[in-house]
Amino acid sequence: MDFVKNQIVILTVEDIGTNGEGIGRVDGFTLFIKGAVIGDRIEARIIKLKKHYGYARIEKIIEPGKDRVTPVCPVADKCGGCTIQHMSYEKQLEWKFYKVKNCLERIGGLVDIESKMEPIYGMEMPYYYRNKAQFPVGTDKNGKMITGFYAGRTHSIIENTHCYIQSEVNEQVLQIILDYCRRNHIVAYDEKTGKGILRHILTRVGFRTGEIMVCLIINANKKKMRNIEELVEELIKIDGMTSITFNINRERTNRILGDRIIPVWGQNYITDYIGNVKYQISPLSFYQVNPKQTEVLYGKALEYAGLEGNETVWDLYCGIGTISLFLAQKAKKVYGVEIVPQAIEDAKRNAEINGFDNVDFFVGKAEEVLPREYEKNGVYADVIVVDPPRKGCDASLLDTIVKMAPKRVVYVSCDPATLARDVKILGESGYRVEKVSVVDQFGHSVHVESVVKLSRE
Ligand code: SAH
Repeated sequence: MDFVKNQIVILTVEDIGTNGEGIGRVDGFTLFIKGAVIGDRIEARIIKLKKHYGYARIEKIIEPGKDRVTPVCPVADKCGGCTIQHMSYEKQLEWKFYKVKNCLERIGGLVDIESKMEPIYGMEMPYYYRNKAQFPVGTDKNGKMITGFYAGRTHSIIENTHCYIQSEVNEQVLQIILDYCRRNHIVAYDEKTGKGILRHILTRVGFRTGEIMVCLIINANKKKMRNIEELVEELIKIDGMTSITFNINRERTNRILGDRIIPVWGQNYITDYIGNVKYQISPLSFYQVNPKQTEVLYGKALEYAGLEGNETVWDLYCGIGTISLFLAQKAKKVYGVEIVPQAIEDAKRNAEINGFDNVDFFVGKAEEVLPREYEKNGVYADVIVVDPPRKGCDASLLDTIVKMAPKRVVYVSCDPATLARDVKILGESGYRVEKVSVVDQFGHSVHVESVVKLSRE
């Protein structure tokens, strides 16, 4: 059947796409529909046609899917943050579990994988789970300073100070800052003109320690923040306030943070724990945003590594060394490799404050460092852990892993498709999947995290 723009079609939504949109088919032709949930029977208007697929808009929900719920957040449909809050949390978890399973079967070529999969580890409380927020600041059409989050794929701010996936203390912090700015005539930065002062408000909360960090990202020197003592005085009334800083960013760029941190009150960092490991977190450090579920995820990685105390372990794509330090609790020696030098500085400091002397870190690309260390220095591994970005591992890295022949490979992944591709390659060289777990780190979003244990046959 040939479709035309504006045509009305009736379909049932079967899946969710990478941006949270519903996916359905009419006569085998795929349509993407924003705001539609699996199971919805809808009347939709085709708004854009491509050769093999199209986009449609909901005209009428004929019958809501049984998993459709009313989002708790009043701006959920406008805000670009939560893309699937319309779907019950149970259904989100089920969808994530099957997404991993389907990738491992279809791309990874694995049969009967479900028998190796643990039940998905969902959150006990899928709200207020994030420890880090970066609120853009802008001006509404009446000239009032506002903050909130960007609408999907744009930079228009959806005004909101109560985000249901962020720490609850943010609302109070934001209100104090907005009041201070309005009183002192400090204006919001304007991306179009490059003028104005306050760009973003960054907050971080140590979930275990209760420590709070507030960082104001400004397009000016600190003197422009008049009467700053007024702001400090209000902010430090909040229980747990530990760090107040400015970050100077005068570039006309989409990058949120500049490189320079200026202390305003308290220390420049907060401290938090994942498991028994302590981390110092500055406004610029990378740190997992859902510490509770990270503990579950890395706990699984540690379990799958099967350490008894005599092992040499490589942790590739180690970031600030979160997994490395987790592993160091049980291994003889851990080596971490990471491309960002700043992250390695954090990793080293974190090793030090925890008193680990059995970890070493390398700055560089995993696919360069490991082959080099193997060819030149004949390094060895009992277990190799990888936690790559979405694009997965480089083929040359997988090649070196196979040559090094560790007993086990633990693959932590944020993209089941590239995970499945890499697991297939390792499988062809004698590594068999033994266990899989899926851990939900980002409720109400389509992100999927999983860990796979592979053993050499
Ligand atoms: N396990 C880490 C986070 C991993 S995220 C933690 O918990 O902190 C993936 C990391 O891989 C990022 O820190 C990114 O900077 C790094 N990275 C990306 N490409 C890389 C490469 N080719 N070699 C090594 N590290 C890389």
